[in-house]
Amino acid sequence: MNAPSKDDSCSVCHDTFKLPCQANCSHWFCGECILMVWHHSSALHPCKCPICRRPINLFIPSNLIGQEHDVESERVMRDIAKYNRFFGGGPVSLIQRVRDMPLLLHRMARELMDPQRALFLVQRTRIIFFILKQMTLLLELILMMRRDL
Ligand SMILES: [Zn+2]
Ligand SMILES: [Zn+2]
Repeated sequence: MNAPSKDDSCSVCHDTFKLPCQANCSHWFCGECILMVWHHSSALHPCKCPICRRPINLFIPSNLIGQEHDVESERVMRDIAKYNRFFGGGPVSLIQRVRDMPLLLHRMARELMDPQRALFLVQRTRIIFFILKQMTLLLELILMMRRDL
């Protein structure tokens, strides 16, 4: 069964799993906890597993999830799906990439503005370049849609 064992607990919040997701290194975390770990690391890189330090590029939600239909769980599951698209390396359509943009841009902006984190110039430049690339994608999509009209 695709679920964490009963006596296991989330190593981030040390509580029982909420919306359990298994990372590609086989460790389990709450969906919300692991997104938090990613929010505290670099936006451009996949986060590292808090247990084994391996980079995570895929989260597989437990098949026990599905009963929860509250707004909060739905948001977490959507963000997990977005994370998988950013780092999973699977084919992602241009439209999907543009749809996912707000979350990533928000992360970038936070990283740039964070006074706690003195970013090196190289990192800053990379983030700015990344944002520019996203803008180009958006433009490409707009042009594409206009052509279809
Ligand atoms: Zn947790
Ligand atoms: Zn791990």
